[in-house]
Amino acid sequence: QKRTSRGSVGVFNAAIYESLKEEQALHEGLRQAIAKREFTLVYQPLVTSEDEKLWAVEALLRWQFGGRAIGPDVFIPLAEKCGLIHEIGIWVLHRACIDAAQWQFDEPVAVSVNVSVIQLMADGFIKILDRALASSGLNPERLHLEITESVFAKNKEKVIREVNAIKARKVQISIDDFGTGFSSLSQLQSLNFDHIKIDRTFVQNLEEGSDTIIRATVLIAREFGCKTIAEGIETPEHAAHLKAMGVDYLQGYYYAKPLSLTDLLHWYNNNNR
Ligand code: C2E
Ligand code: CA
Ligand code: CA
Ligand code: CA
Repeated sequence: QKRTSRGSVGVFNAAIYESLKEEQALHEGLRQAIAKREFTLVYQPLVTSEDEKLWAVEALLRWQFGGRAIGPDVFIPLAEKCGLIHEIGIWVLHRACIDAAQWQFDEPVAVSVNVSVIQLMADGFIKILDRALASSGLNPERLHLEITESVFAKNKEKVIREVNAIKARKVQISIDDFGTGFSSLSQLQSLNFDHIKIDRTFVQNLEEGSDTIIRATVLIAREFGCKTIAEGIETPEHAAHLKAMGVDYLQGYYYAKPLSLTDLLHWYNNNNR
């Protein structure tokens, strides 16, 4: 920190103060967000590479706070920091299961729910999962849980126990943001999951050589008997490229943005019949 003039230090401190105040306001807001019904889920389709038909739908959380839309990239880390993620995660899981149980698509379509590693590792997660399944009546095979690759940094025995308990219920598991963390191949092998979700940075850097990483990931996934998903498909070129590399499922703005339930139904009727 440079102390060239009193003014610059003053401005610097004021900026920190403002951002702390902002965080405090968001924290207070988050605490009441469920009761005030400020959360909604939007749903983004995942399609098969083969025929671009709907395969699953990812639930993504939205927060409308004091007339502003706050992004999950901002409030999820904050909720993890202050412990509210548990309560929020329960709300998300229940809402997503209830919505999915009521979908009327021609084929059974899975709902894919993001689960914070903090929530997964907390005692009682499996009870929460069972309650969401029971109260919604959703077929467990239609529920996927997206867990970020950072889970491999946690207590291995505990993670394996949780994963096995999830799998025993026939719920499927996707490893999210794959390639951004530090998981080793042996760690990957020790877990019984169903899908690897290739992080969108690799899709968006295809021109800069990340296709090698994607190709390698597809090979590893096949070796482990799981499917690959690519997120962040924005152009027809992305789609063609990833199909050619053998990725099984695709997701991104090119197919559909995250949609309200009503818009999801419209999208389905226009694209899948
Ligand atoms: P994520 O799980 O990796 O979700 C993918 C993000 O990429 C979403 O951002 C989605 O809207 C965005 N996206 C989808 N297609 C495209 C595309 O073609 N191009 C680009 N540039 N972006 C695309 P979103 O909804 O803002 O969510 C951000 C992150 O917040 C998520 O990343 C996830 O880590 C977290 N998150 C969202 N909802 C939940 C939730 O219910 N629970 C938890 N624990 N985390 C959540
Ligand atoms: Ca995700
Ligand atoms: Ca992701
Ligand atoms: Ca992400």
